[in-house]
Order: sequence, then structure tokens, then C-alpha cells
Amino acid sequence: MRRIVIVGAGIIGATLAARLAGAGADVTLVDARRPGTATSATSLAWLNANQKLPRHYHDYSVRAMHEWRELMDGFGRPDWYVPTGGLSWAESDSDRRRLAERLDRLRDWGYPAVELTPRQAVELEPALRVPGTALVASFPAEGYVHGRPAVDAFVTRARAAGARVVVTGGDVLVEAGAGGVSAVRLPDGGRLDADVYVSCAGWRTGRLLEPLGVVVPIVPGDAPGSSAPCVVTRVAGPGTHSPVGRLVHPPGLSLRPALGGGLQLEAGDLNDLVDVHTTQEDLDRHGETLLRRAERVIPGLAARPIENVRCFRPLPVDGHPLTGWLPTLPNTYLIVSHSGMTLAPLLARHAATEILDGTDHDELAAYRLTRFATSELGPSPTATSPTPIAGTAGRSRPAPSRSS
Ligand SMILES: Cc1cc2nc3c(=O)[nH]c(=O)nc-3n(C[C@H](O)[C@H](O)[C@H](O)COP(=O)(O)OP(=O)(O)OC[C@H]3O[C@@H](n4cnc5c(N)ncnc54)[C@H](O)[C@@H]3O)c2cc1C
Repeated sequence: MRRIVIVGAGIIGATLAARLAGAGADVTLVDARRPGTATSATSLAWLNANQKLPRHYHDYSVRAMHEWRELMDGFGRPDWYVPTGGLSWAESDSDRRRLAERLDRLRDWGYPAVELTPRQAVELEPALRVPGTALVASFPAEGYVHGRPAVDAFVTRARAAGARVVVTGGDVLVEAGAGGVSAVRLPDGGRLDADVYVSCAGWRTGRLLEPLGVVVPIVPGDAPGSSAPCVVTRVAGPGTHSPVGRLVHPPGLSLRPALGGGLQLEAGDLNDLVDVHTTQEDLDRHGETLLRRAERVIPGLAARPIENVRCFRPLPVDGHPLTGWLPTLPNTYLIVSHSGMTLAPLLARHAATEILDGTDHDELAAYRLTRFATSELGPSPTATSPTPIAGTAGRSRPAPSRSS
């Protein structure tokens, strides 16, 4: 039986562990912290293909939305999977023009996208105030998941299929020898040996692999001014119900029901103000701004902030997933993706086929490390051995879209 060690128990590692263990592999899932408590816990987790370009990425995201739907039948339609659709509206001329273009494109591509009158939108979501002049779009095939219970459910499924879950309390290191990775070293000095190692370390993938000379082309979350960090706010009360039932994107805000009631809020322009040095005081100030924006679209919202947290997106520098075997570490497979909540179950199914059967999955062809030009190859600044696999970590590249 193939022994597989997966580093990282977010949505990517958890869905992969469930797939691999379900297929009969000997799986160990290792994480520094409790599964599902890093990026996957704070994600907006909008399951969508709404602003995914180019067409192959849109299509892959649509297939991932189907994958969720099919998988959830097998989970008995759990309450952490909420396929209630998405609603967006635009008010300024430029925003209306962009939303109209998006509606046209998505309809051309066969994606469920419907223009609503403001009155129809309020019939769907009675708590909302939608200006009479707004252009409103409904995306009925979309939804969201609550990340933490979703990860828990996949970890439970992996365990039921025989996987071991190791929570170390500190970062693991990866050791390499002549044939690739030789072990995962635990903080207590213990080691995990395997035939195959999989990196599902999210935004900290570079930190895990760079000591081996591997340069992963993702935006470094801890660089000053990095586009990876975000601020996410949870507000609650009164009562345990959320005032809305779906994902809503009014101008300058994204909101959806939060786990346990209330709302989860974020906004791109405020995310742009956050980096690794942002203080909690500033995060709280951004949280207040998000709450004011929510009050503007939900009149009478009597909510109070529960938490304002910084979190980090795993952002490959061109915005698209990175999947596949590492050329310089042939027993090691990498998955890191933005939009990981949408894509995880499909990426996991395709990656599991590649890991277990040794085949190349056509659908992953666009998401290989090899799409980065050879001229960009260069050793990591912290490399101990020069075994680069891809371009420098994106500091000279345009920032990828933050759209989820
Ligand atoms: C604010 C925000 C909004 C988002 N909105 C959406 C959205 O609407 N739709 C969507 O599809 N996606 C969205 N995303 C992106 C999505 O959440 C991520 O792509 C996804 O959660 C990544 O999952 P992951 O398993 O790769 O990472 P994580 O959940 O971060 O898991 C990685 C795990 O690896 C562990 N780890 C890392 N290094 C080590 C080490 N050395 N030793 C031990 N353990 C280690 C970490 O502890 C962590 O538990 C959003 C992200 C953010 C931050």
C-alpha cells in the first residue's frame, strides 16, 4: 500500500486525504494546528465561477461547483454547504457597465446569470435595501460553505477510511535526499516517512519548500504591502439568525451568513490596506467600516462586531492553481490554489488520480508549474541547494486578481 504524507489540513489537504484514503492509500495528514483553522476557516468560501478568466479557468470552476453538488449528496446535504445562490448589484455608471458585461459574458458561456429588478432582489432578500436605480444580477447556481465544519467533515471521512491525523503544535520541515523528499520532520524530532509527500500548505507553501531550493510562484504573504493578507469581520446579533440567506455583493462589500448566525464581511479596498504589519487596532477600525457598509444595505441591522481577523490568501502569481509533481523532488506533489474553497474537491479528485495512477490528468494541464517560463527560473533566496522549479515568488509580476 502506498504511504502518503500530506502536509496541511485545510480544505485542500482534507479533501485530498479523504480521496486518497477512500481509494485505499495509507494516508497521514499532518498540520501544525487543528485542521481547518487557517485560511479555510476565514474564507468567504463563495463557490463560484463568476469572475474566473480565461475560459478554461471558468470551465474548471464550473465543474468544481458540480463536484461540490455531487459530493454533498453523499454527505447527506450538510448544513455547512449552502447552495442558496449569489446576488450582486451595481450603482455607479462604471460598475453598472462592468456588471452588464459580466452578465453578458456569463450568459454566453451558459452560466446561470439572471438580471433582476431591485424589487425582485428585495423579494429574495427582504432585509436588503437595494436602490431603485441599481443593476442587479442573480447567480442561482452559486453558494458558499462554512470552511471549518467542511474541513472537519472531510477529515472525519479520511479518518473513517483509515487516515491518521497528526497535529504537531508547530511547523514541520521537509527533508530531502538524493531521490527527493526523504522525510517530514516533526517539531518534537520525530519523522514521518512515506513513498509520496504532498504539500497542501496554503499561503505558507513557499516557506515549506524554499529551504529545499524550490521556488513556488506565489505571492509572499508576509512581504510588506503583499496582496495576500485580508481583513475578515464577523458581526452578530440580535438573535442567532442571519438577516440574509445568501452571498450578497453590494458595491464595496461582500457579505454572507456567518457560522452560528450573524454575518461575515469583507471588502477588496480594505483588504488592500492590510499586510502582515497591520495592527489589531487598525483591523478593528476596518471592521467598523465594514459594519457601517453592512448597515447601509441592511437598514436596522443591530449587529456588533465579534471579531476582526487578518488572514492570508494563497495567491499563485497568475491567480491560477499550481498542481503536479515537483520536477526536482520527484516523489513530491504540490497543490496550492486561490479559490481553493471552490476548487478543492475537484482538484483533490484529479490530484488523487495522478498520485495513485501515475497518469497526467488533462484537466490539470493548464495548472502546471511548467507554465512559468524557463527564463524565470532562479534559486530561492533562502535555498540551501539550487533546485529551482519556477519563477521568483512574484514580486516583479502584476498582482493577481483578488476576486474569489
Ligand atoms: C478572505 C478570504 C476570502 C476568500 N474567498 C474565497 C471564496 O470566496 N471562494 C474561494 O473559492 N476561495 C476563497 N478564498 C481562498 C480560499 O479560502 C483558499 O484558497 C483555501 O482556503 C486554501 O486552502 P488550503 O487548504 O490551501 O489552505 P489553509 O486552509 O491555509 O490550510 C493550510 C494548512 O497548512 C498548514 N501548514 C502550512 N505550513 C505548515 C508547516 N510547515 N507545518 C505544518 N503545517 C503547515 C497550516 O497550518 C494550515 O492548516 C478566500 C480566502 C480568503 C483569505
